[in-house]
Amino acid sequence: METKPWYVPGKWYTSPYNWDPAVRCQMEGIPHRVYLRDVTMREGEETVGAIISPESRVDLALKLDELGVDAIEMPKLDSHEAVGELVKTFRRAGVKTRIAYFSAKLRGNWKKEIDRAAKVEPDILDLHFSFSPREIFSDFQDGISKEEILKVVDEAVPYACGRVKEVAFGWSKTTRSHLDTVKTVYSAAAQAGASHLHIYDSRGSVFPFAVKYLVQELKKVAGDASISIHCHNDFGLAVANTLAAVEGGAHWCEVAVNGLGDRAGNSSLEEVAASLEILYGVKTGIKLEKLYALSKFAEKITGVPCQRNKAIVGENAFLEESASHMMQVKESTEEGLPEANVPFMAEVVGQTQRYVYGSSTFWGGALEAKIEAMGLRPSPQQLGEIRRTLYEEICKKRFLTEDEVEQFLSRWGN
Ligand SMILES: [Zn+2]
Repeated sequence: METKPWYVPGKWYTSPYNWDPAVRCQMEGIPHRVYLRDVTMREGEETVGAIISPESRVDLALKLDELGVDAIEMPKLDSHEAVGELVKTFRRAGVKTRIAYFSAKLRGNWKKEIDRAAKVEPDILDLHFSFSPREIFSDFQDGISKEEILKVVDEAVPYACGRVKEVAFGWSKTTRSHLDTVKTVYSAAAQAGASHLHIYDSRGSVFPFAVKYLVQELKKVAGDASISIHCHNDFGLAVANTLAAVEGGAHWCEVAVNGLGDRAGNSSLEEVAASLEILYGVKTGIKLEKLYALSKFAEKITGVPCQRNKAIVGENAFLEESASHMMQVKESTEEGLPEANVPFMAEVVGQTQRYVYGSSTFWGGALEAKIEAMGLRPSPQQLGEIRRTLYEEICKKRFLTEDEVEQFLSRWGN
């Protein structure tokens, strides 16, 4: 079979519609390369029950570096000094990727804030405005005025540019803020020297088409600054919104391993990376084959289990028990098209395709095919007995592995 963007033998078989010119022309601003910033250590640890020990932070940073993320966001610690020590530990351990620090608050004594945050020596320092809900809701008719915000931006951004390599600017709940205000202030930040502009969907309250529109509008006034997107999963749309932002021209995506994060979590690193690489054909620098091992590592060090049916890295993502699917796999393998039953092969993301025997295995001919493959010839009455006994066992254990079924059948054969 001929390789096409949507069909790569041995790797993936996706939909040709993804590459239809009529579809592609609607996302002309999509970048060829997208940069992933991992927020697992900061927002991931905000997941209820997640705790990452100091030693594990170093191991996680090394693994993220090895995976190919373009920036690692530092965790919140007691003091800037403690974060600075951790940055030094990362560097001594061999972490080479950019270090991002979400810290410098622009209200109150912002010069002191920037000075202290700059001592951490991050590659990217986030200048962050914190507004009260009423200030955003009233479009700054209450509390701080737009003029005051612009004055701080005009002074603080160049001040920070003189102290760190890259300056980022943004405020929480950007997706709840008025468009004209966002454009005016973010544009001022870009003109003052910010090289990253953060859109935060902090309360997961936007849908894909709207976030794409926001990115497109912001790009009109962003100059050379790149747009970074940060989404929460309150409606289960964090990944869809992140991808929509990329379609609109966002170059940076903020993501967390296993979609960890407060409430319903942040945009999942695995899902964003695999979708961009496989569905969109956008480069991310991520070594997809390391995703599963990283997910398992994150489970271990945070104490938060990954949901079984999670896309890409969940235990069920490449585990089948349906007899009809097993028969389709057999058929497509015989036809030389093993990718036909999955969108992408398990090995692409470091997983292994496996099969188990559960209640839905008993429909169709999968059990008979297994019995035949083992060279057994039970009578119809014996086959009925095998089915009954296996089903009782499955009801007790929920499902049986292929090994367990083979052992059972071997015993029966003797
Ligand atoms: Zn967030």
